[in-house]
Amino acid sequence: MNDVSDAFMISKILLVEDNESNRDMLSRRLVRRGFEVVTAADGESAIRIIREAKPDLVLMDMSLPGINGWDATRIIKSSSETSAIPVVALTAHAMTSDREEAFAAGCNGFETKPIEMDKLLATIDGLLARKRGPNADA
Ligand code: MN
Repeated sequence: MNDVSDAFMISKILLVEDNESNRDMLSRRLVRRGFEVVTAADGESAIRIIREAKPDLVLMDMSLPGINGWDATRIIKSSSETSAIPVVALTAHAMTSDREEAFAAGCNGFETKPIEMDKLLATIDGLLARKRGPNADA
């Protein structure tokens, strides 16, 4: 019984993105794919929402007003309460240094904009499966 309900548990994603149209579009696409989506438009509210809503995964725009995505990720990863939540960096820069910087800040995945939905969904699925543990699909 528990196995069945676990398998159908809806994953909650926090989407952090300051650009309203990008945020709305990506949010709608994720909802259509069956995710519960909460959103934040800046690093401060992202950190607050992560502590309060405990999302299963965070999609983090790196370029944000105030606390940027790198610093927000460092803060999330430095707290034992939130450090296990996977963070996927979203950035318009595809340079190797950006990727390295995102992973150095604690990001668990990295996607460049414009977002390729299939690629992003594969990254999300991989990180959620890893988080659920090796026997999740058994
Ligand atoms: Mn931005």
